[in-house]
Amino acid sequence: MGKKACLSTLPLNQVTLRDTFWSHYLDLVRQTVIPYQWEALNDRIPDAEPSHAVKNFKIAAGLEAGEYGGLVFQDSDVAKWLEAVGYSLATHPDPALEQLADEVIAIIGKAQQPDGYLNTYFTLKEPGKRWTNLHECHELYCAGHMMEAAVAYLKGTGKRALLDIMCRYADYIDTVFGSEPGKIQGYDGHQEIELALVKLYEVTGNEKYLSLSRFFIDERGKTPNFFVEEWKGRRGLSHWTKKVEGEPNLAYNQSHKPVREQTEAVGHSVRAVYMYTAMADLAAQTGDEALYNACKRLWSNIITKQMYITGGIGSTHHGEAFTFDYDLPNDTVYAETCASIGLVFFAHRMLKMEANSVYADVIERILYNILPSAISRDGRSFFYVNPLEVWPEACSKNPGKHHVKPVRQKWFGCACCPPNIARLLASIGQYVYSFSDSTLYTHLYIGGKANIPYGEESFVIQQENRYPWEGRITLTFETAPSGPYKIALRIPGWCRKYGLYLNGKPVLPDSIENGYACIERQWAAGDAITLELEMAATFMTSNPRVRANAGKLAIQRGPLVYCLEEADNGSNLSAISISPDSVLTPYFDENLAGGAIVLQGKAYRTDESRWANNLYGPVASSDNPVQIKAIPYYLWGNREPGEMLVWVRRA
Ligand code: ZN
Repeated sequence: MGKKACLSTLPLNQVTLRDTFWSHYLDLVRQTVIPYQWEALNDRIPDAEPSHAVKNFKIAAGLEAGEYGGLVFQDSDVAKWLEAVGYSLATHPDPALEQLADEVIAIIGKAQQPDGYLNTYFTLKEPGKRWTNLHECHELYCAGHMMEAAVAYLKGTGKRALLDIMCRYADYIDTVFGSEPGKIQGYDGHQEIELALVKLYEVTGNEKYLSLSRFFIDERGKTPNFFVEEWKGRRGLSHWTKKVEGEPNLAYNQSHKPVREQTEAVGHSVRAVYMYTAMADLAAQTGDEALYNACKRLWSNIITKQMYITGGIGSTHHGEAFTFDYDLPNDTVYAETCASIGLVFFAHRMLKMEANSVYADVIERILYNILPSAISRDGRSFFYVNPLEVWPEACSKNPGKHHVKPVRQKWFGCACCPPNIARLLASIGQYVYSFSDSTLYTHLYIGGKANIPYGEESFVIQQENRYPWEGRITLTFETAPSGPYKIALRIPGWCRKYGLYLNGKPVLPDSIENGYACIERQWAAGDAITLELEMAATFMTSNPRVRANAGKLAIQRGPLVYCLEEADNGSNLSAISISPDSVLTPYFDENLAGGAIVLQGKAYRTDESRWANNLYGPVASSDNPVQIKAIPYYLWGNREPGEMLVWVRRA
């Protein structure tokens, strides 16, 4: 086994984005989200639950007095913030922000214990109890997030301080965990360190980190099960309930069987996709075909049987988990923001090993639907759960829907999603292209410039478009590679018809390879390739096994899924039905949150006048024609709170 041949990813500082759709969000992350989250981490947001996260580090560093506050994994919020800062500094140097981050890193350094250990919860609250409850206490998870931060900060600033801290910690962890006698043959209850160790290996070249990641992945799910043994060891006492609890549910954190034998995505969805990401990383680094095949099976299970049309995953809030194939309820859904972000990571790793548009299609689906929906237009409030159907009264009065919020929340006591959104947005530039010696793959249609390595040289390509509103994309060579070179353009899965033009003249692609239209030439500076994707509003249906969508249709235009909102269509959206023959007319609504193409068309609404005082009655045809307006799903909940609906009854 050896390293697999993989496509390369452009470093963030080689991609400058200037985009119709994304520039707003990228500015938002720098100007609002990162500063706002810093305030939140320092407990300075009025009316929001205090985080304690920075304070915990200060107390552990001996700089402040006080007690540990927050959940057991609070350290990871500081880590995710630092990671986002690292990405942001890579593209937008900001001395004041960098100084702030340097100061936090200095505090983290002081909180590190002499042997390298770094976790404020166990240092402050349960000293002597390290590694005694891996199942519940997220110790390695927190370590993993800080490792990711260290790598991002090194790449963004060239500074090694946090990397050195985290290598010291990883070296220490390596003395604690492993197959050798005397070490713990265990792994974390929340996967994360596995993918982080691969990142640490990639920047340091230290094989020890790769081996440790592999140990955690290989060990998981072996018999006897580590978590069962650990549970017996602590006599069933739970960190969360402080009571004796029954044997752990092993599928919840994917330790029910060895990872290579897993065929269906089960359990907590964020844990699952973080693990699959690490498995794909390890398959790429080691050429482990069994691991790669497991990744392909799990990918296929999610994408063909367990993913919402918005790119959400995790059908139930019980355990924030996958349930089973085709079970995709729209109103009791979980679809945690973090889970979709993790699915982007998994897709990106799979895409490195195989340039196939199915992976980039999923990245696009999440980026244009879940991700911008999960953050408000002003960057100050967030969705944790991403429903496809909302009835606000049910969210407050039906206990089975309490987890679904009709309005974005300011901050969460368990604040995993907001910093995850920040780190993905701040690093979005790395998903646009990848390259090999002879080919540039354009996965996403995001405007800007990219500097592409070509042997010892490099060339600059500029992308312009008005995506996702218009389907015309132009790539211009500002400078050209000196030899023949192939440009591969993703033809999105939603696109039925496209045209390709070279310097304004229609051309046919030289080949279509796994969903990419390829064109190979000796290029000259100024050459322009234009891709014209037909972007029509389309009625979508779902596999008939998806009970929740039976007799319903959804609307999609380009990569955007649309929804109906009460603000445009009145209350009781379930009374509306649309015929798939209806013509939906697009127009640009500049008053809708930053401006967006909305769709208008004919539909029907059940006459409710005869239902004033009764619940049931004989069937009578009483549908009246109405005009409906659909808006992009990602903009829902930006006006007065009200109902929202993605899957509409078919007339
Ligand atoms: Zn989350």
